[in-house]
Amino acid sequence: MRRSILCLALALLVGPAHLPGLQYCPAKLNTGIREYSDFRIRSIFLNILYKTNMDPKKFALCEDLFALVPHTVDLATTPGQSVVAVLLTHQARNYTSSELRGLIAHELGHEQLRGKPKNIELEIAVDKIAAGWVGSQAVIAGLRALLPEFERFSGIREIYQAQIMLRIDLLAYPRRTAQRP
Ligand SMILES: [Zn+2]
Repeated sequence: MRRSILCLALALLVGPAHLPGLQYCPAKLNTGIREYSDFRIRSIFLNILYKTNMDPKKFALCEDLFALVPHTVDLATTPGQSVVAVLLTHQARNYTSSELRGLIAHELGHEQLRGKPKNIELEIAVDKIAAGWVGSQAVIAGLRALLPEFERFSGIREIYQAQIMLRIDLLAYPRRTAQRP
């Protein structure tokens, strides 16, 4: 708690565009992508980053106007070094702080399992890492916030929603054996 107050005080002191350590979102990453300027989201992002002990200089926080769900992009810099852009959706600014904590912790959790094959098992493992940082209730809240985002897409809706429901189940009942969708 004391640390979060300190982070907030620091953030207030330096303003949202100059949070200590974070990289700027690269200007030419893609159309519709820009620095995430929302102060609340930036504070939550930095707060979780401190918890993870990862170096804020390796991260940028972007807004992706066209994305349905949060995602990360590896930005190749010099060999052996990279910057990871965490891209949150425009609608993320409407999410509660608990939902944001869950979603951001999940995206940062991907850094801990970098290079692993991208599949549902990876998502489940990353959820567990995120839950270790922010608690499973926040990760569940974040996943629930994503469910309505697929409503408009009948082709993919069922698959994504079933995967998210499975992940919520495993966080809520960690000892249950997964029934893959
Ligand atoms: Zn993920």
